[in-house]
Amino acid sequence: AMKPNILILGAGYGGMVTAAKITKELGPNEANITLVSKHDYHYQTTWLHEPAAGTLDSDRTRMPVSQLIGGKKIDFVLGEVEQVHPEENKVSLSNGEQLDYDYVVVAVGAIPETFGVEGVFEHSFNQWTVNGARELKEHTEYMFAKYNNEPKDEYLTFVVAGAGFTGIEYLGELSVRVPELCKKYDVPLNKVKIYCVEAAPTALPGFDPELVEYAMNLLENRGVEFKIGTPISEVTENGVTLKGGEEINAETVIWATGVRGNPIIEKSGFENMRARVKVEKDLRAPGYENVFIIGDCSLIINEETERPYPPTAQIAMQQGETVVKNIKALIKGGELQEFKPDIKGTVASLGGKEAIGVVGDKKLFGTSAHFMKKMIDNRALWILGGAGLVLKKGKNPF
Ligand code: FAD
Ligand code: NAD
Repeated sequence: AMKPNILILGAGYGGMVTAAKITKELGPNEANITLVSKHDYHYQTTWLHEPAAGTLDSDRTRMPVSQLIGGKKIDFVLGEVEQVHPEENKVSLSNGEQLDYDYVVVAVGAIPETFGVEGVFEHSFNQWTVNGARELKEHTEYMFAKYNNEPKDEYLTFVVAGAGFTGIEYLGELSVRVPELCKKYDVPLNKVKIYCVEAAPTALPGFDPELVEYAMNLLENRGVEFKIGTPISEVTENGVTLKGGEEINAETVIWATGVRGNPIIEKSGFENMRARVKVEKDLRAPGYENVFIIGDCSLIINEETERPYPPTAQIAMQQGETVVKNIKALIKGGELQEFKPDIKGTVASLGGKEAIGVVGDKKLFGTSAHFMKKMIDNRALWILGGAGLVLKKGKNPF
């Protein structure tokens, strides 16, 4: 019999865990395994607020795919996936190449959600990727360098759109970085304005109110001004326009109002909600026996709340493990498993040695939450590359 081709699309959390675990279940004479991604490196998406603000070198967040799959029987294709053709069992790349599959795992992550607000892609920093983080970091430093030669307030005005976890974690880092930049570029701290504009009636909607207050107080003490219950209605060349018409002039707008799935999902014709596919319990796309969709491109419902789980790395990694078991069952026989997320908690960094979180039924803040957050960051490295990777790229929890 012919060996089946397994294609894994995307080298993020879902794709890398799938790749790392699948060679343990299927030998090289049982399947051909190919990983496709548009960069030759994997990056820790969950760390990107740090290099974006300049508090961590961007190289610490990424590692060559070749190193992670080194020694494992996996082919790597560097390429941008354009579309899956589920009726033809093919994937097309932007360079015109096509790849055939017997089983495909779609794990190409998310893109920013704008909710129809105009100007986001033209006038804001919105790419939570290594490339996006490097550009925002350099731009921020340039604004400080520029200010004393041309003292315009908008150079030192920063607007963060959205007080979800991404916006809050980024503010944590930025508010630690700003005093350092002020010193370096001889800029008075009181000239710098950092706004966080949030549409909902509270920051971190749905999160523990006591911890939300802790985070807001801490960020306010570091100079962040919150505008809560205030949707941004447009991003322009000059800054942002708020609902009601007020404008904030700013050279730097950071977009963090949430995500939608990768447009590949829509292009490929899968039934979707904001480019996320409501997958079957075994993580397959409805109607297809050989298409698995995981991570931010998948949508799974929390049966207790009857609402979708928020897209997280935690879930993407767990889905990768289930997909491996299910592909093995399809190839070697056996029952397919249902995916059940095991949510261990949520911890968010706030810059310096500060963080907030809920783990199990425990609320954490300050240094104990900080410790937990760094251990979670290290755990993701451990899963992908063991002790060696933790030593090379890991974080000091103290
Ligand atoms: P990703 O990990 O984003 O990986 C997608 C991969 O696909 C990338 O390698 C990308 O290069 C590749 N790709 C994209 N398009 C193509 C294409 N066309 N062709 C080929 N390859 C492609 N979640 C948590 O659980 N805990 C946290 O603390 C946390 N913190 C976060 C902090 C920030 C700043 C951000 C932005 C998100 C955070 N998240 C966190 C959410 C988490 O990062 C995502 O849910 C997670 O990355 C989703 O995993 P994924 O495998 O679906 O996609
Ligand atoms: P989010 O959806 O969690 O938050 C986006 C926020 O933007 C919301 O509060 C929303 O009300 C607000 N918003 C929407 N439109 C707006 C507008 N026009 N003007 C002003 N505010 C607006 O999105 P996120 O923070 O990007 O997070 C994405 C996913 O990644 C989530 O699932 C999140 O849980 C996860 N994440 C987790 C962590 C962590 O666990 N530490 C960190 C970052 C992200």
